[in-house]
Amino acid sequence: MNLLFLGPPGSGKGTQAKVVCEDLGILHLSTGDLLRDSVRQGTELGGKARKYMEAGELVPDELIVGMIEEKMTGGELDNGYILDGFPRTVPQAEALKAMLTKNNSRLDMAVLIDVPDEEVVARLSKRAEIEGRADDADESIVRNRLDVYKKQTQPIIDFYRKESILEAVPGTGTIDEITARILSVIKE
Ligand code: ADP
Repeated sequence: MNLLFLGPPGSGKGTQAKVVCEDLGILHLSTGDLLRDSVRQGTELGGKARKYMEAGELVPDELIVGMIEEKMTGGELDNGYILDGFPRTVPQAEALKAMLTKNNSRLDMAVLIDVPDEEVVARLSKRAEIEGRADDADESIVRNRLDVYKKQTQPIIDFYRKESILEAVPGTGTIDEITARILSVIKE
């Protein structure tokens, strides 16, 4: 099963992806986590990505696509995965489609986790206290990430709607309730 989770920052994509991956026995691939690891390890990619992440801007497509391509060719995704945080732009969605076609593979479903803006801002400031992510702590950076989501990421919702693989689930309620909703659309 090859899945993609979509939704605004703070929609709970990462939390849900972890739980659902465990349930289905597939791999969780979070571009945000991979990038934060690269920054911590001081890799070349981390060095290039850092300033964009700190400003709440997107890291350039070619850096992200290169990082994903490496994972796809490494074999670790062969038994299924959930993509979390990628694609985030239409060019990334197109690059992913080309990559998958080349490997005779495809996405089975894109799950959109729907959460209202105000809820998102409240959740991110709470996460800042718990996890200490700098890009969560500053409200203007949080607002910028929401803006970037609307302008650059929302258009890919239509991309997957046209491919007829989009499923939307309400992302409010308890973590368990949301997990149950997601598992039910996946297993249907
Ligand atoms: P959130 O979904 O809460 O914003 P992530 O952990 O998914 O957080 O991403 C954190 C940051 O990493 C983003 O604000 C962005 O700078 C960068 N990033 C992650 N994935 C991508 C991507 N696919 N394309 C460009 N930038 C990305």
